[in-house]
Amino acid sequence: MMTPLRTALLCAALLFITGMLAINWQLWHSAQNGSQSSARQALHKVDAIVDEARDATRLSAQFFSHSCTPAVQFALNREAAVQPHLRTVALLKGNNIWCSSLSGKGILVVNAANLTFGTLTLYPRDFIAPMPILVYMQPVAGGHAAASISDVHLRDVLTSTEETTLTLIVGDKMLAEKGRVVDLTDAYQGEQIASVKYPFSIGYTTPPFFSLRRLIHEGMLLTIMVAIMSLIAGSLLRRYLEKRIAPQENLKRAIERGEIVPWYQPVVDGKTGAINGVEVLARWQHPTGGLIPPDMFIPLAEKNDLIEPLTRSLMAKVASELPPALDHFPPELHVGINVSAAHCYSPKFKNDCLQFLRYFSPGQIKLLLEITEREELQLTPAVLETLHQLQEHGVELALDDFGTGYSGLSYLNELAVDFIKIDRSFVGRITDDPESTRLVDCVIEMAQKLSLRIVAEGVETRQQVDYMNQHHISLLQGYFFWKPMPLSELLAAIALKN
Ligand code: C2E
Ligand code: CA
Ligand code: CA
Repeated sequence: MMTPLRTALLCAALLFITGMLAINWQLWHSAQNGSQSSARQALHKVDAIVDEARDATRLSAQFFSHSCTPAVQFALNREAAVQPHLRTVALLKGNNIWCSSLSGKGILVVNAANLTFGTLTLYPRDFIAPMPILVYMQPVAGGHAAASISDVHLRDVLTSTEETTLTLIVGDKMLAEKGRVVDLTDAYQGEQIASVKYPFSIGYTTPPFFSLRRLIHEGMLLTIMVAIMSLIAGSLLRRYLEKRIAPQENLKRAIERGEIVPWYQPVVDGKTGAINGVEVLARWQHPTGGLIPPDMFIPLAEKNDLIEPLTRSLMAKVASELPPALDHFPPELHVGINVSAAHCYSPKFKNDCLQFLRYFSPGQIKLLLEITEREELQLTPAVLETLHQLQEHGVELALDDFGTGYSGLSYLNELAVDFIKIDRSFVGRITDDPESTRLVDCVIEMAQKLSLRIVAEGVETRQQVDYMNQHHISLLQGYFFWKPMPLSELLAAIALKN
């Protein structure tokens, strides 16, 4: 099954891709329109240029009845000159240039015999003249009147846009980039629009469907917006899915992902403050919800058969991070692990504990199993046998939260516990008021009569420390000394104290 995170990521990715496709399609569409309109504009401009040639040839035709005198040449020259885009105007008799606006009958014409008698002809460089030219020609009485159009002006028209690559197509020739005149082959892929006035068309390339450059140049803002919206939609979906998922399902995944991490709280000698042991306390390092205390998930784990994998994963974390740090602690450090009844019943329980111990050298630590009195542990023969075998392997047992449960005394009868941990609710009663301290006195008296080692939990004040010292309770745990913290912080704090 997909996790909410994966589903949300997938959804965000799909949204993003869909958004990008839409943006790309929109940009492609407008680029297509842009190409078409650039081609249309170029068509109108070339039409206008050819109009000049048409007008010039029309006006020049009258000179056929004259001789090609310098005055006629001058008149032709004037026709060419008044039209901004024309190079020369010439009158032809047969294949010969009879009279031209350039003196010397057209010195630029290198091969007049190549001239063809079409309305519009595109000549490559050196075919007629030393540059590519477009010649407009019309038959008139006595021959043909022709006007040549400079390729420079045509190129200006064709390169006036960045949207597309434009070409001028006349007959089977094409004026391509850098003024090259090439044959129009079947391989030509571009689109064309034809002039309705003259026999030429403008070729234009259609934009590619996808262009990263176009997307970056024209769609950056939209892309950022789509990305932000996809992320927002993804995270909203994730929140929604996570809320919908049963809490136990969330916890199960957290255990699998190793989000349940150990914090450590030292147990110290009340007189010297020296560390005697540590209690491992579970914390849920939630990826978005921050640090979750155990009260919020341990009962949930216990109710949903998750306490066993949870404790196992926690022990594995301790087994991997604690051994290298043991130099900072005294030998035979008591490592307290809270175990729930359900785990004690499990056939894997004994092995979990022995497996944990294998990570440590002999004598480095003492595993202390803290069994709470708040919850009933049925001391079946199998459970007693398992605990007994563990004790033979050097494992110690502590009765946690002593004084809060009803079965504490019967436990003590059947189970050879090594420690009792007096609950912090009793320790908290140690105040100036002798009335409220009396209950603690009783609990302590009872514990001492049973000749058990005692740990007092929740020691917060100097007064409580003094009380414990007076009552010869040497092992103390509480905020007065240390708060629970991750191993790295604990090591740093120990280093600071020393
Ligand atoms: P606990 O076993 O009695 O653990 C001691 C609790 O008292 C810890 O709370 C600790 O932070 C808190 N404490 C220690 N010193 C002081 C103090 O001076 N003042 C006060 N007010 N509190 C102090 P935490 O870590 O929130 O754990 C709560 C309970 O969650 C634990 O109580 C234990 O019953 C359970 N728990 C925690 N980790 C595990 C676990 O790995 N497995 C199981 N089965 N239960 C766990
Ligand atoms: Ca405990
Ligand atoms: Ca406790």
